Amino acid sequence: MQRKVDVLVIGAGPAGIISAVTARRYYPEKKITVIKSVEKGVVPCGIPYMFASLKNPDENELGNAALEENNIDIVVDEVIKIDRSEKTVTTKKDERFSYEKLVLAIGSEPIMPPIKGVKKKGCYLIYKDLVYLKKSIEEIRKVKNVLIIGGGFIGIEFADEVSNISGLNVYLVEILPNLLANSFDIEFSTLAEETLQSKGVTLLTSTSVEEILGDEKVEGVRLSNGREIAIDSIILGAGGAPNTKLATDAGLDIGKGRGIWVDEYMHTTDPDIFAVGDCAGKRDFYTRKNVSVMLASTATAEARIAGANLYRLRVIRENKGTIAIYSTYINGMVLCSAGLTENIAKKEGFEIVTGIINGVDKHPATLPGASKIKIKLIFSKYSGIILGGQVSGGISCGEIINLIGIAIQKRVSFAELETLQMATHPYLTSAPTAYPVVLAAQDAAQKIMI
Ligand SMILES: Cc1cc2nc3c(=O)[nH]c(=O)nc-3n(C[C@H](O)[C@H](O)[C@H](O)COP(=O)(O)OP(=O)(O)OC[C@H]3O[C@@H](n4cnc5c(N)ncnc54)[C@H](O)[C@@H]3O)c2cc1C
Repeated sequence: MQRKVDVLVIGAGPAGIISAVTARRYYPEKKITVIKSVEKGVVPCGIPYMFASLKNPDENELGNAALEENNIDIVVDEVIKIDRSEKTVTTKKDERFSYEKLVLAIGSEPIMPPIKGVKKKGCYLIYKDLVYLKKSIEEIRKVKNVLIIGGGFIGIEFADEVSNISGLNVYLVEILPNLLANSFDIEFSTLAEETLQSKGVTLLTSTSVEEILGDEKVEGVRLSNGREIAIDSIILGAGGAPNTKLATDAGLDIGKGRGIWVDEYMHTTDPDIFAVGDCAGKRDFYTRKNVSVMLASTATAEARIAGANLYRLRVIRENKGTIAIYSTYINGMVLCSAGLTENIAKKEGFEIVTGIINGVDKHPATLPGASKIKIKLIFSKYSGIILGGQVSGGISCGEIINLIGIAIQKRVSFAELETLQMATHPYLTSAPTAYPVVLAAQDAAQKIMI
């Protein structure tokens, strides 16, 4: 049987859902269908909190409400082939769908690191599948020693969360000298390290796992320094790889990056096929180099662009590259990053200056609930344009980084940030006389050569 659809979206993660919902808004007359391979998906960012913070892991299910409310058909099946000349797709259950416009929102798969013994029972990859995750969490909660591989934001969120389970010894292994090293400079990475250590997590940086020991089941690990430790479960948090096979089998280009090649409007090399989210290639906002950024926030921004541009191009909705903006949360401390770090900006050849400030997010600083806040802004030395920013502190940082993010996207200068007009209130923000973003810009201003 062949079903006729106008807009066909493959995948129902954040990118698939938002592509379909946006398409409905711009093209209300179109028949829109989403095909998803996993019946019960999860809110990806909530996965770490299914171990202890949520009363019941089922609370993190990614439901169909947004699609149903927008009159979008949902099919649970896996697309196995795209025929571009006939404009059809075929599924595992042997159904065929014809499309006018096709959106690939097929996401990424967790990477299985090439470690001897990594397929033993007790090693867990993080699949975005509720049934799989519930079973894995139930098993991990029963053991005594857990090791997490990967000190990026996913690994540290797991370490923080599982260390809330009483009686569990938690180890975190990272091959680089610091945690979060790809998105934070050292003074912020150190804060993450101190916070995890204060919770009893054993950090093993500049270290890799050479071998996973045990017969059929994990019993321990041998580290790169030769040390062996007893371990019952291993969470593999070494990143993800974009799903591209469906696209390459259909003759679409990958380009020089890892994901499916897309232009500024999220077209693939076929003008009727779009790719969004983790499966799509990413270019850095400032350097335009291919980068490996996989964030739900980036995925939904791309989905909004694709959904609006399916039938008509809208020049004000184009993808100018990723600013890799994200926040993470460890035991009450928030760490946020956007744009280039000082380290990466220098490696890329930018001459930069930084502005750093320590402040408090309420005024006076003694008000209940006030948190310390640290902001670092990175500016180009000769133009004064902001290249990046990092923030640490309390809950308020979660939105301060979004202010810095829009400043980066709009290429704002230090002078515009110094003269920022902001809303302030004692309970809600820092004082207008000591607003940390302004003070950090002022700190940099003294060193800028214009
Ligand atoms: C533990 C964890 C925590 C995270 N926390 C954050 C966070 O705090 N903030 C943030 O911004 N990002 C976070 N991320 C990253 C975020 O999860 C991803 O960037 C996001 O899920 C990408 O969305 P997507 O829709 O592109 O892909 P996915 O979420 O991977 O969804 C793709 C969907 O397509 C389906 N699919 C694939 N192939 C087919 C096919 N052939 N046919 C039909 N369906 C198919 C898959 O089953 C899947 O449901 C986290 C990731 C993890 C693993």
